[in-house]
Amino acid sequence: MNNLAPYAANPALSIGRQFNEPPSSTRNAFQRDRDRIIHSTAFRRLEYKTQVFVNHEGDLFRTRLTHSLEVAQMARGIARTLNLHEDLTEAIALAHDLGHTPFGHAGQDALNACMRDFGGFEHNLQSLRVVEQLEQRYAEFDGLNLTFEVREGILKHCSIKNAKQLGDVGQRFIDKTSPSLEAQLTNYADEIAYNNHDIDDGLRSGLITIEQLSKVELFAQNLAEVKTKYPKLEQKRLIHETVRRMINTLVVDLCTQSAHNIAQHQPQSIADIRQLPPLVNFSDEIAAQNQKLKQFLRKNLYHHYKVNRMSAKATRIVRELFAVFFENTGLLPNEFQTYAEIDKPRAVADYIAGMTDRYAIREHRKLFTVEEYL
Ligand code: MG
Repeated sequence: MNNLAPYAANPALSIGRQFNEPPSSTRNAFQRDRDRIIHSTAFRRLEYKTQVFVNHEGDLFRTRLTHSLEVAQMARGIARTLNLHEDLTEAIALAHDLGHTPFGHAGQDALNACMRDFGGFEHNLQSLRVVEQLEQRYAEFDGLNLTFEVREGILKHCSIKNAKQLGDVGQRFIDKTSPSLEAQLTNYADEIAYNNHDIDDGLRSGLITIEQLSKVELFAQNLAEVKTKYPKLEQKRLIHETVRRMINTLVVDLCTQSAHNIAQHQPQSIADIRQLPPLVNFSDEIAAQNQKLKQFLRKNLYHHYKVNRMSAKATRIVRELFAVFFENTGLLPNEFQTYAEIDKPRAVADYIAGMTDRYAIREHRKLFTVEEYL
């Protein structure tokens, strides 16, 4: 890690772990956190969870695992450009989606509705819960005992009410201070990754078309550039050449604007970063274009009738699983039954949230289909 900026996160100066541990002789604290995340159960399950589409609908779509890898790759690149700590961004990126339910946003919304009277369900909080409590692998503590900086990065947003119950990582939402630049940029890398891979997945699956997307400035400009340079390019390469240019436009703008903000505010340390407004952001022009792209995706892809059909199925599965377990906790696996004696709704939510798409479908079939063997 050459040229680390004075305001970058520094593992040697980490605020620390919840439980004291001797340092590793071969890895810095953030590398060690990254390794713990990769070896976790929740990380392996990302392979069979999806954002927009149901996992078994085809091999066309990104899974949460490949999404997380793309986020890590972009975040590391941005961190390197800005002389920030790459290992920290990688750890945050790989952990940021660990708390997602099966079936993407439809699953999370359904579970949140089921939990309305019991504190709600929020995937971001659940990611933190996974690394702080739900992973059970170490002799001396629950969770992964990650450094403050990684946990801070995982908790992207949070209500004041929830923040008050979260201790150290909740404090900044109460104080209205900023997280590390590494946390800020990983959040943007997440957004750049999913907007662009959703375009790619959407086009390849035929749910959206190049004609529709031509009304979106960010896409149209880059498409025109590719067409001028390669007038006879076949569709598959045309899409990829366009999407990679869009990613590049966004990443370069983010790096340029953020470097400009940093130069303007002259932070000297990570303590300064926490007191300053967020310094990682797009220029106004690109922010506006990015917003248009998001609106397009919301209208034309996330609410495409075929996606709505999948979402409706997902909602029904989650709702029915919640109801059946809530009604009879004797149907839960033993470890969750024990926890249900302390907090029934949360035990049911944790169990459902941990499921992959295919596991949830299978559980639903086992519980609701008479012919199915248990
Ligand atoms: Mg994500």
